[in-house]
Amino acid sequence: MSGLEPSAYKLFIDGKWEGGSRVMTVIDKFTGECVATVPVADGEAVDRAIAAARAAFPSYSRLPAHKRHEILQKATQLFDARKDVLAALIAREAGKPLKYALAELNRSVETFRFSAEEAKRIHGETVPLDASVAGEGRIGFWVRVPVGVVAAITPFNFPLNLVAHKIGPALAAGCTVVLKPASTTPLIALRMAEIFEEAGLPPGVLNVVVGPGGVVGDRMVADPRVSKVSFTGSPPVGEAIIRKAGLKKVTMELGNNSGTIIEPDADLDAAVPRCVVSAFANSGQVCISLQRLYVHRDVAVEFTRRFVEATKALKVGNPLDHDIDIGPMIEEGEAIRAEAWIREAIDQGATLLCGGKREGRILYPTVLADVSPAMKVMCEEAFAPLVSIVIYDSFEEAVRLVDDSPFGLQAGIYTNDIKKAFYAIDRIDAGGVMINDSSIFRVDHMPYGGNKLSGLGREGVPFAVEEMTTIKMVMIKP
Ligand code: NAP
Repeated sequence: MSGLEPSAYKLFIDGKWEGGSRVMTVIDKFTGECVATVPVADGEAVDRAIAAARAAFPSYSRLPAHKRHEILQKATQLFDARKDVLAALIAREAGKPLKYALAELNRSVETFRFSAEEAKRIHGETVPLDASVAGEGRIGFWVRVPVGVVAAITPFNFPLNLVAHKIGPALAAGCTVVLKPASTTPLIALRMAEIFEEAGLPPGVLNVVVGPGGVVGDRMVADPRVSKVSFTGSPPVGEAIIRKAGLKKVTMELGNNSGTIIEPDADLDAAVPRCVVSAFANSGQVCISLQRLYVHRDVAVEFTRRFVEATKALKVGNPLDHDIDIGPMIEEGEAIRAEAWIREAIDQGATLLCGGKREGRILYPTVLADVSPAMKVMCEEAFAPLVSIVIYDSFEEAVRLVDDSPFGLQAGIYTNDIKKAFYAIDRIDAGGVMINDSSIFRVDHMPYGGNKLSGLGREGVPFAVEEMTTIKMVMIKP
């Protein structure tokens, strides 16, 4: 651990591990035990991290592509070799059931591998300048150049893979980074920095500071030495960051209240288990979690019976147990908030089909019916193990309802009718429409991001590399 004890983590600034006068405690979200302490970065530490990233930029941005590839490739191998230990850490600090924590590790390995590959592919194009009279006799081409220092701010729910989606493309592109992970889940990000140090990343290229978003994050975002802010988190924080960032590139990966439609021709054997996982994986704390489930009247009784039965069979308990499906939510306050939304919906006429019970941070997987669009469980982002079933008669109406949202990240449509599929693709204003799957489908090299309140820009390794670079035009008059 390069001098790091598991119970006393340090900040990573300019290639050095450093303590601080104030520390915070990171707890196991199931047992409440202290997993580790971490120093809280003060303003001076944040300034030094940005200065280190700025100072490292000229030489790192000129490091040949094959060397950036090698560092990322070596880090990928180290992540792969340490998967089990790192997954257990995520299970504890994020409360994520081990099988999902392992799935996150596998995806993170892939995200870093895609980033290593992408480091070799960054290139520009020639421009036929003589298409204009003024361009005659001139040679034109453009190249992609790294933007500079990236401020990366990440949420708790995928504490490694969502970090990987920023750090991998930034390092591939030749950018230097200051990362601030979520305060509830900073440990895995510090372990990642340790792996990059071991993989040979030069000092100052990656810096990790920990502390409250409103203080540490705010300082990073406002700093003029930062060229780009890459943020994943909630829409209100995203909007606050955009106001603060000023004239910088920004990528915003924000929330959603995803809808999925089940048409009568859907394969229920495939759709039911997939929709259960989509609604309840990581206790619904996934930005593309299935929250609004629109089921055609012809299959509503059968679908709902099977869906509720499968939901009741989910195992709730300690995330470190291999067969657990549902662990604690990130904070008790979040579980209390979601429980209150369920109670409010029931008071307004919704029917509780299962769940609704809370024990501390654990909210049992909850299915509601007889909901209406104005209820919070429908029109806001639940980010909890909570799904509502709506019965519909007309496909066009179901598509309209899925699209009737302030968010627009991803949606799912189960149908084998190609005309219906294209009707939905055409009308749903979202970053992605998944046919014969739920809203939750994602692999890490596809373009991923939202419209409306769900964000700005796209991640997915090749697309994030574009966001981490800018174009420089070159004209040569021989
Ligand atoms: P959050 O409260 O917005 O926090 C995200 C990050 O922003 C944390 O590191 C937080 O620090 C920091 N932060 C808070 N206030 C800040 C400020 N004023 N300036 C700069 N940084 C600030 O989100 P969360 O609760 O961790 O995550 C849940 C949200 O993320 C949901 O809305 C979910 O949909 C969204 N999400 C979106 C995607 C996507 O790809 N579209 C993926 C995952 C999650 P602290 O931890 O110290 O507060």
